Amino acid sequence: MSLFFLSLFAFVFGACLGSFLGVLVDRASTGEQVLRGRSKCEHCRKVLETRDLIPIVSYVLLKGRCRHCNSKIPLRVLLIEVTGGMIASGLFLYAYFTGLNIIELILLLAVFFSLVGIFFADFSYGIIPDEFVATIILSSLFLLISYPQNLFQNLIVNIITGFLVFSFFLVIFLLTRGRGMGFGDVKLSFAIGLFLGFPKTIVALYVAFLTGMFISIILVLLGKKKLRGDSIAFGPFLVIGAVIGYFFGIQILNLFFK
Ligand SMILES: [Zn+2]
Repeated sequence: MSLFFLSLFAFVFGACLGSFLGVLVDRASTGEQVLRGRSKCEHCRKVLETRDLIPIVSYVLLKGRCRHCNSKIPLRVLLIEVTGGMIASGLFLYAYFTGLNIIELILLLAVFFSLVGIFFADFSYGIIPDEFVATIILSSLFLLISYPQNLFQNLIVNIITGFLVFSFFLVIFLLTRGRGMGFGDVKLSFAIGLFLGFPKTIVALYVAFLTGMFISIILVLLGKKKLRGDSIAFGPFLVIGAVIGYFFGIQILNLFFK
């Protein structure tokens, strides 16, 4: 089979996984029981039919509205499916060209889908579900163990990085009394430090704070947020930082220190 069809297959698989992730995000964030019950319309509570559950396609055919009550389906539903597809095909190609094995690919998928889940949960609900953070921590540990060369060195470096970043965020959390960022961000920072290790974590934090500040200033200038009192979720910026840090961390550092 050609590489094109394999990556297309990965996209479809990722979109399905993204669709499922969207359900997990909604249920973890609203406190509904995860993995229980069938998907319903948020508005009229009608159980969705199979033909309305096809990732991306259903949303487009329904023009983003419920078949029964015509109320809007959140755009998040479509975005999560498209992102899922792009991540799965992107990681598949990355694994193909860098020679990662299937176990490493599955662990990376788990990390990146958790990051996407955190992005949308924090953006839409202001919550970073512990389940996603725990998945990143466990997958990162397994990824570290899967490289037998320099095992202890890698493990120690990444664990120390995680704790240093955790302490840094904990200080910010305590100094701002939780208004600057939530405790979810503190836990997430440990997971990202453990996943990326040194020096990629530095790039991730740099990108997160830079984009966070940039977007905040724009929102204040547009009058969408007040300078005092209003807070914006920091999780999505940490996620963007982690993704850029993972793929481009070393290249970005080389730009600055060469
Ligand atoms: Zn409805």
